[in-house]
Amino acid sequence: MKITAVHAYPLRYQEPNDRMMWRHVTLAKVETDAGVVGWGECISQWPEAALAVKLLIEKGFGPLLVGKDPTENGALFRAMKAHNWWYGDTGMANFAVSAVDIALWDLKGKALGLPVHNLLGGKVNDKLRACASTHPSQAEIGDLAKELADHAAAGYTAVKVGFGKAGDANLGVDPRRDISYVKAVREAIGPNVDFMVDIGNKTRWDYASGVRMSRAFEEYGLRWIEDPFPPDQVENYRHLRQSIQTQIGAGERSWDTVQYARLIDQGVADVYLVDPGRANGITGYKEVMELTRVAGLFHNAHSWSSAINTAAALHASATGDNYIVFELKPVPSPLQHELVREPFEQRDGWVEVPDAPGLGVEIDEAVVERYGFTDF
Ligand SMILES: [Mg+2]
Repeated sequence: MKITAVHAYPLRYQEPNDRMMWRHVTLAKVETDAGVVGWGECISQWPEAALAVKLLIEKGFGPLLVGKDPTENGALFRAMKAHNWWYGDTGMANFAVSAVDIALWDLKGKALGLPVHNLLGGKVNDKLRACASTHPSQAEIGDLAKELADHAAAGYTAVKVGFGKAGDANLGVDPRRDISYVKAVREAIGPNVDFMVDIGNKTRWDYASGVRMSRAFEEYGLRWIEDPFPPDQVENYRHLRQSIQTQIGAGERSWDTVQYARLIDQGVADVYLVDPGRANGITGYKEVMELTRVAGLFHNAHSWSSAINTAAALHASATGDNYIVFELKPVPSPLQHELVREPFEQRDGWVEVPDAPGLGVEIDEAVVERYGFTDF
């Protein structure tokens, strides 16, 4: 079997889980002379990035991959990384590698008639604990807490909330209100639902306020506090981690395994968030997963884009035993619920890992066309 073509599709859509904000991804499709195709995705996020990645995938990797055996995906991964040597192991180059790597794993699985989790060594878990991963937007604390309680009532055994998001929630602005909010959520969801707060990109904690807030939150039993500081503030992470009992999550803005190795070595976190659509695809995820296992830490998928990314993250996560939860967007979303014939859903608090060949998702190409864009 030989690769005959490599295509990329920039898509844009309005995200119902984020106040209908525009979001962008780039899909990769790898075709073969046997008629088998593989699909991948990177979370390129901004429109110019989504378009730039198309060029890298089609003009950079296309000539490199056409004529090659797609089942030798490890060698092809190395060839892509070698090709990128000058323009980088980060940024657009890594988006392109991530999308094509996922497509090659999907393709290899379909070619061999095996699910990706089997190619990775087999499932440790048949299903993963589902977490409702949310961007809150309502103004009142009571309404915000009820929204999470509703997710818990629907079956989720974990909820995650991003601070500093657009909308009227205004979390991450007023310390007293943030503490009241965390208290109200814990009361609303009860003691048994895992609750994570993602401080994120727009909330500005310094070291002192980070310790103060994290200690105030400890009474309410957060499962982890995510990204309390910008990712380069290594000393703040280290000191906070030594000052509190709550686990710290970090890493979602890392691009590759070397960066994760450095963060683990520096001791910044307990839980490492990894997005296969950013950090070298399924190959990269598996590498980071192994690093966390060896270090006695946790990995957790950062996957909040299309169902292809969800599938990739799910297959990889299922082959390791040190994950915590698996994040889903709780409200139906175009690239989750229209793009694939059988969308991922939580059932009784769990999300099943597909057993069909490849990623186990069937792409509706009419949907790819519907959300495609070529300029903006
Ligand atoms: Mg995050």
